[in-house]
Amino acid sequence: MELDEVFQKCLICQNPFCKKGCPINTDIPKIIDLCRKGEYVTAYKILMENNPLASITSRVCPHEFNCYGNCILNRKGTPIPFYKLEQDLTAKYRYEYSYKDKTGRVAIIGSGPAGLFSAIYLANYGLDVTIFEKNSYLGGILTDGIPSSRLPYEFVEEIINTLVKLNVNIIKNTKVDEGKLLELTKTFDYAILACGLSKSRTLDFKESDRIIDAISFLKDYNLARKLGYKEKYKINGKAIVLGLGNVACDAANALRHLDVNTTICYRRSQEEAPCTPMELNECINNGVTINYLLKPDSITENSRGLKVKFEKTILGEPDERGRHTPVGTNEFITLECDYLITALGQLPLENEFINVNTNSNYVVTDDNNLTNIPNLYAVGDITLGASTVVNAISSAKVACNDILSKITKE
Ligand SMILES: Cc1cc2nc3c(=O)[nH]c(=O)nc-3n(C[C@H](O)[C@H](O)[C@H](O)COP(=O)(O)OP(=O)(O)OC[C@H]3O[C@@H](n4cnc5c(N)ncnc54)[C@H](O)[C@@H]3O)c2cc1C
Ligand code: SF4
Repeated sequence: MELDEVFQKCLICQNPFCKKGCPINTDIPKIIDLCRKGEYVTAYKILMENNPLASITSRVCPHEFNCYGNCILNRKGTPIPFYKLEQDLTAKYRYEYSYKDKTGRVAIIGSGPAGLFSAIYLANYGLDVTIFEKNSYLGGILTDGIPSSRLPYEFVEEIINTLVKLNVNIIKNTKVDEGKLLELTKTFDYAILACGLSKSRTLDFKESDRIIDAISFLKDYNLARKLGYKEKYKINGKAIVLGLGNVACDAANALRHLDVNTTICYRRSQEEAPCTPMELNECINNGVTINYLLKPDSITENSRGLKVKFEKTILGEPDERGRHTPVGTNEFITLECDYLITALGQLPLENEFINVNTNSNYVVTDDNNLTNIPNLYAVGDITLGASTVVNAISSAKVACNDILSKITKE
């Protein structure tokens, strides 16, 4: 492997902000230093011991907000793109998992990044792990949400193969409900709830086949391409995407891939958009038109398509997150389209597990991610709210380490 010259410029800081900016605390200076000395295999091992899903996070993390965005060399405008080194290492080397001798049975509910991480991490210590997944496929949003253009499916497949190598029991097509969950907490030593958030926020307009939520569209699009499922939506012509988070960007890029004329409409300005600059640029490069300061007001449908009436907005006072609130101006424009794709955020579960304490329907946990049920942990989006892959993994690691510490003590 040849090291890109940019990594020679890393200052190998004693108090590295990049490491602090990584939610899973990757030892970035140490890994770069080892690579500079040509010790790639050791560097890779350190990376994987900390985060067995490094091949995934290096490709999907919002680097600008994490490691890259926190690098001290941002002050000179030359931050070190550690994630690229992480991508190269995980593309080149393969990790040999070795069982360590701990015992115990753990049930994991959900196979998104939080569930996959927990399964690999605990099985690598020798625990007997079973994953229960409601879908016929594994990976959660890694498989059905994030398109292959950003995360090639081979990296998810590799993680799934690792589960098999580690003898993780995989039970698909099994939705765990309240009764089953309580049963699992009795029949396993520990259970980890990693169910994510499955519902999208929708618009308060009448239902139409031409109005589709972005997560359903992406699921249909991704499963057809990655797993050969039959496609349900046949979108063509002109589409408007509402919202400007990463889901909206993924949907807009997927629509462009289908050669659909695509416009994103967002009710705030570019500065308030939750997507990363990289995602925004990708959309622009793919030919997506972006309209800021437009708020949907009403929709009418006829045989030819949809007419979406938007109210123009201006930015008002900042909200509690510092984002300016869009204020209507009573000036309207109407845009026509064949399809409206809504990417307005995800909703928490509808208190599916009534014995588990929730707050605004997100599962409440203590500092170790333990719920009110003594051997039930909750990790990932189900407890964090719509978050990121690396945050989901980081919360899973906290729970797994707590389980391991208890097993050591027992
Ligand atoms: C379209 C899209 C793009 C995104 N892009 C990025 C990105 O680029 N970078 C980034 O960091 N984050 C991204 N995110 C956010 C990120 O994917 C999530 O934060 C992360 O996947 C959460 O992981 P999780 O394991 O908690 O949940 P999920 O990935 O949602 O997985 C939950 C799993 O649990 C299963 N499940 C649910 N209920 C049950 C049940 N009752 N019984 C059994 N199984 C159940 C589900 O089927 C699913 O497989 C994106 C999200 C979306 C929707
Ligand atoms: S896991 Fe994400 S945040 Fe951490 S070093 Fe890798 S790319 Fe950066």
